[in-house]
Amino acid sequence: MRAMSSAKPIASDAVPARVNLLGMPRARLEEFMVSLGEKPWRAQQLFKWIYHQGVDDFARMTDVGRALRERLAACAEVRPPQVAAEHVSADGTRKWLIRVDGGGSVETVFIPEHGRGTLCVSSQVGCALDCSFCSTGKQGFQRDLSAAEIIGQVWIAARAFGLPKRGGQRSITNVVLMGMGEPLLNFDNVVAAMDLMMDDFAYGISKRRVTLSTAGVVPALDRLAGLSEASLAISLHAPNDALRDRLMPVNRRFPIRALLDSARRYMDAQTDVKRVVTVEYTLIKDLNDSVALAHELAALLRGFPCKINLIPFNPFPQSSYERPGRNAVSRFWNVLNDAGYRVTVRTTRGDDIDAACGQLVGSVRDRTRRSARHRAAAPCSREAHA
Ligand code: SAH
Repeated sequence: MRAMSSAKPIASDAVPARVNLLGMPRARLEEFMVSLGEKPWRAQQLFKWIYHQGVDDFARMTDVGRALRERLAACAEVRPPQVAAEHVSADGTRKWLIRVDGGGSVETVFIPEHGRGTLCVSSQVGCALDCSFCSTGKQGFQRDLSAAEIIGQVWIAARAFGLPKRGGQRSITNVVLMGMGEPLLNFDNVVAAMDLMMDDFAYGISKRRVTLSTAGVVPALDRLAGLSEASLAISLHAPNDALRDRLMPVNRRFPIRALLDSARRYMDAQTDVKRVVTVEYTLIKDLNDSVALAHELAALLRGFPCKINLIPFNPFPQSSYERPGRNAVSRFWNVLNDAGYRVTVRTTRGDDIDAACGQLVGSVRDRTRRSARHRAAAPCSREAHA
């Protein structure tokens, strides 16, 4: 149990709470402006300042009249989460440790590649799903991030790179919800943040370049169909339920067939027919990397509109799993490629700053007691890096 603080809490009505405009859906901001006696289009004006210009100070919003700026400053704010630390890898990958209200922190990673830059965003402090190969899962779960804390990660990264002039080269071309947490278990805030990523008055990133990755929370994925146009990635990692049950406890509730059917419904609800689901498959040595399993995967996905992304396992201290050798990865890749699939292998980036997939831990005040259980069972005693 954590020690209770003896300090007296500050009376919450001492300072009237200001509304945080960051993360607020555009329609809600329009209503807010109307409630201040303003025209709804003021919301677009504010959006451009907040998201295009990265401005958090109303005084700098020079095309907004002074009287309105002062009224806004009295009742509202643009408040991103706090950056606690920033690391830059030798390969140009950047990682921000972002502190959130109530203690705890999450991580956001920017991965520059030829002609594009991908920002990997967190959706929860910790994760409740406890996938056996993921270090975030071993930390347990603390809480959902707010929409402001999710879009705030994009805001912080965009501002760090200097915002592009209109029509200029963008630094962040893609956003993936593949950081800490299970995005579909924080449904409303994730949908609101993704809307802002894709809204032209906010970040205006193409729907093909905003990707939600899920371990397979089927009812939530069904709900998302028709509500969002974001791209979809599913974390499969095994071609049969017996193995997937062992790797991902969520599979016991929502098995592979239910997940693939739901993902297909999601794609069917999209207006453009050419899009495909990304199937993520983390390759773990001697566990799910055999040629036989590659054949089983090829058979399972026959006729399913997808591309396959193989992710060689990224080791972390509390795990005894190992990354397969290059030959094993190639053999697995070959089987799928020969079967006619589009297959990519995710190259590991930001290794030296622990920024690779599954290595993000932030710091989590675990409410599930899972972290203590995993620490007791850990193969070595090095604490998580954060
Ligand atoms: N909860 C979401 C998103 C977070 S993880 C999901 O499950 O999809 C993003 C991707 O990294 C997932 O495919 C996840 O399974 C994979 N991953 C997690 N830990 C990993 C590790 N240690 N090595 C390689 N990939 C990992």
